[in-house]
Amino acid sequence: MKRREFVGGLALAAGVTACGPDKSAENSSAASTSQTFSWNLVTSWPPGLPGLGLGVENLAENIERASGGRLKIRVYAGGELVPALEVFDAVRSGTAQMGHDASYYHRGKVPAAQYFTAIPFGLNANEMNAWLYYGGGVELWQELYADFGLVPFPAGQTGVQMAGWFNKEINTVDDLKGLKMRIPGLGGEVMQRAGATQVTVPASEIFTSLQTGAIDAAEWVGPYNDLSLGLHKAARYYYYPGWHEPGPLLECIINKEAWDTLPKDLQAIVEVCCQAINLDIQAEYIWGNAQALHELKQDSTVELREFPADVLRLLEKHSSDIVNELSERDPWAKRLQDSVTPFLQKSNENQRVSEYSFLKARIPGES
Ligand code: CA
Repeated sequence: MKRREFVGGLALAAGVTACGPDKSAENSSAASTSQTFSWNLVTSWPPGLPGLGLGVENLAENIERASGGRLKIRVYAGGELVPALEVFDAVRSGTAQMGHDASYYHRGKVPAAQYFTAIPFGLNANEMNAWLYYGGGVELWQELYADFGLVPFPAGQTGVQMAGWFNKEINTVDDLKGLKMRIPGLGGEVMQRAGATQVTVPASEIFTSLQTGAIDAAEWVGPYNDLSLGLHKAARYYYYPGWHEPGPLLECIINKEAWDTLPKDLQAIVEVCCQAINLDIQAEYIWGNAQALHELKQDSTVELREFPADVLRLLEKHSSDIVNELSERDPWAKRLQDSVTPFLQKSNENQRVSEYSFLKARIPGES
């Protein structure tokens, strides 16, 4: 990320909101600083959803506050203005100027976009941010989306998810065979290769599908969101870790034509507010997951289980094959894979002697 632009943007924002326009600064003419904008922002999230949904509302509020009311953003929950999974097209066509969703929802149109949500056994949340902001990830993303008339920014992180809720025990790799599971994206492809059946179920129907036995298992997010959906009342076994979504990122996408109408200081405000919400949503999940997991552990009907090592190794093998196959048929996926892989390998060395080693030493009974 262009650090000088960020710093310049912050200074400009401060100039406009706190000290009045800085006449010497670029693009701070009376016309551009007095012009106001009213934008629509469409999301994929149910109204009021903790984490993702409320995070977007905070983003809109922060932008309005930082811009002194010059950029007002009205947030629409999934389905209110356009269907939940059509955010990408709505922003491309200009139905809304802004959108908030996960890039793997439009993997059918941009397969390589999955790199900007999650790759199974790939980067975790902190590594994802490191790659995006310091490893050229954001620049690659903006280049990829330029062909679609969109400007993307990282805008939220759930952190490592859970493997999901299961009504069948997973003791060996054979237990995956015939399992009907709700799991989207590349993770779903991996499960399918392991013998499971990938089922598509929207978030609002996961509970009923599990409870009626229409599916045997489902992944959604993690304790914080899963508890609010009541999934612990529909399935017994709560498996970890979320191998398929180790650090899933959310995107804020902006229609390029709308973006180009904004003065430079408002563009900087949007960019910096996205970076702020990226941090804020991640913090909310770390906090919320700790409270919610503790609550779930008190519930005698819930059994917390770790996937057996051989199950994880099989899923890792299929993941690696599927990601390589994607790179072979999609030049953009190859470019992104070539960018991520050297960092991931070096980060493994670093994580082993930092977070991994430290957590083993800190968590009672782990060392
Ligand atoms: Ca998920």
